[in-house]
Amino acid sequence: MTAAAATGLGSVAASQVSASEYPSGPFWNNVPDPDLSKSTLPNFKFELEKSTGRVDGGSYGKEVTVEQLPISTGIAGVSMKLQPGVARELHWHATAAEWAFVISGNCRTTVINPEGQSETNDFEPGDVWYFPRGFGHSIQCLGNQPCHFILIFDNGYFSEFGTFSITDWIGHTPKELLAKNLGLPASAFDSFPKSEVYFVHGQPPPAQPALPHRGHLVSPPNTHKYKLLAQEPHATFAGGREWLVSEREFPISTTVTGVVLELEPGGLRELHWHPNAEEWQYVLGGTISVTLFGAKGRYAIESFQTGDVGYIPQGYGHSIENTGSEKARVLIGFNTGLYQAIDLSEWLAGNPDYLLEAHFNQKPDVVEKFPKRDVFIATGKPI
Ligand code: MN
Ligand code: MN
Repeated sequence: MTAAAATGLGSVAASQVSASEYPSGPFWNNVPDPDLSKSTLPNFKFELEKSTGRVDGGSYGKEVTVEQLPISTGIAGVSMKLQPGVARELHWHATAAEWAFVISGNCRTTVINPEGQSETNDFEPGDVWYFPRGFGHSIQCLGNQPCHFILIFDNGYFSEFGTFSITDWIGHTPKELLAKNLGLPASAFDSFPKSEVYFVHGQPPPAQPALPHRGHLVSPPNTHKYKLLAQEPHATFAGGREWLVSEREFPISTTVTGVVLELEPGGLRELHWHPNAEEWQYVLGGTISVTLFGAKGRYAIESFQTGDVGYIPQGYGHSIENTGSEKARVLIGFNTGLYQAIDLSEWLAGNPDYLLEAHFNQKPDVVEKFPKRDVFIATGKPI
């Protein structure tokens, strides 16, 4: 179902997606992927929080790209923690847009767009940001507690440690050129860092951000901030609920859709697939079991704990089940702004019984008991 179609308790609406909304997709959609053409499915799990990453005191960045998880060609991810007074320095990404979800603590971002408009936003847990490819930005920890957030990039080959950082750039540019460019004496740059700082150590920022020197501020439709968990879930069922933010709700986020899926113990996000996007999963809490179907008899089941990352290639069948005794929450990113999914139950309900009877070699009394609507999240109780 589409994002707009999922509403309320157990309801499902017809797809509102028009033909023009089916993009042809990135180049790799049409290229055979050697990793996906073997007789068994490749590994689709990486224990992100158990990895070391880049550490600076209590601040860190841990990444998962095609380097760590070869199947993840469409989406890369990072878990980052900033200690009070620490900022992820001013930088841009030449080859990826950045989508983020704040798990704990508070932070402040600054971002500039090609129109010269800048925006400063403060974030708390449950908030999301999106920076289009190439926009300059920074992230500062706010207050006296660390801030932990997850970054999702719409390119699995992108590395967070290959960003275009301001200290790296300035540090490698001749001082005379900088002097001409910025109108200062060359000697003013003697004490500047000579290489990339990455994590900037300073004081916790003031409660109110200072206005930028230039007066151009981002206009509201183009804001980079969205309060995801402050919204009503787009889908609520007995076995769980889901929040979703796509380009429809957050217009600037043209290449990423984000979801928080919450499952009660035993809750099952039913068998489904996504026609137009790859799926990147980060377990925010709990224990889940993910099934993956890759055609040609290839099937895999994997168990995930808090801090683990999973990856579902575009179009591959999958399900997510809470196998623990506590609520489970999964952060999910898709590399599209136009969310699409087709669920097994709605597929079956969209076909005549006689056809299903023949497929499964069953009598009518079995097939007629199939759900007549989209199940979305199942509990094992009668539907
Ligand atoms: Mn960034
Ligand atoms: Mn999915």
